[in-house]
Amino acid sequence: MNVIVTAPPRDLETQYFDPDNLRLKSISWPNFLAILLIHVGALAAPFFFSWQGLAAMLGLYWFTGCVGVTLCYHRMLTHRGFRLHPVARTIAHLAGALSMQGKPLEWAMSHRIHHARSDQPGDPHSPLDGAWWSHFVWLLFSRSDSTRKILAAKYIPDLAKDGVCVFFDRTYLVWNVVLAAALFYLGGLSCFLWGFCLRTALVYHMTWLINSATHIWGYRNYETTDCSRNLWWVALLTFGEGWHNNHHAQPVSAYHGHRWWEIDSTGWVISACRLLGLATQVRVGKSADPANPQA
Ligand SMILES: [Zn+2]
Ligand SMILES: [Zn+2]
Repeated sequence: MNVIVTAPPRDLETQYFDPDNLRLKSISWPNFLAILLIHVGALAAPFFFSWQGLAAMLGLYWFTGCVGVTLCYHRMLTHRGFRLHPVARTIAHLAGALSMQGKPLEWAMSHRIHHARSDQPGDPHSPLDGAWWSHFVWLLFSRSDSTRKILAAKYIPDLAKDGVCVFFDRTYLVWNVVLAAALFYLGGLSCFLWGFCLRTALVYHMTWLINSATHIWGYRNYETTDCSRNLWWVALLTFGEGWHNNHHAQPVSAYHGHRWWEIDSTGWVISACRLLGLATQVRVGKSADPANPQA
């Protein structure tokens, strides 16, 4: 007698992010070409060195990496670890858009799903599906728009109603074109290659290391149900995000360094904003956010 074994039904998160679903024909060419061209420009940058270009690279590395990705996209939008004054909030969104890491709503949705499914089926970027998959290959595929809408309604209903977030979601590319043009106009090819291409590539890899390396290497302060680790050198490169096991244990906390020597320079920026009265409702430790159960 033949026994027919059927796979259990898969939920939307698993269908949406399953690496087995993705084939060459589903490559997102805009994503693929953007990442490729940024890296080509980054490799060319050393041949066009200037001090002006280096300064643009370092300043924008901090602005887009620390303020944009880490403080705004991750700790404020995705996890709602604190609130910012409207002016500071707008500047932070601008920094996030200029990181070229995608629109804020999409970024926050993927990351909330990562926390809901860490290293389980449906995790957008678990190294259990392959180290390179988790580092960047998962970004190279286009996915179903209708499924995205259902997942957005489930994971980011709060952000979809946030005027500033929606504005930068819609105008995301414009800011990057303006920055690239301004760098070229003010500092020539050197400033464009260093301040735009090399800086963007470095911020890409710094963020991608969180998805790959800090779910593979490092030590654990907490027994979480995922593979998250604390990795000091990633923490230094990422303004404190490398204390990733701490973060999975206390996702809503605005501070990721939990031992005195776990340097969290994004936390310093949040503390400075708090002292200046720009940041309020700063969450510390294991506080729950009833409006954001996925985080
Ligand atoms: Zn993680
Ligand atoms: Zn997170």
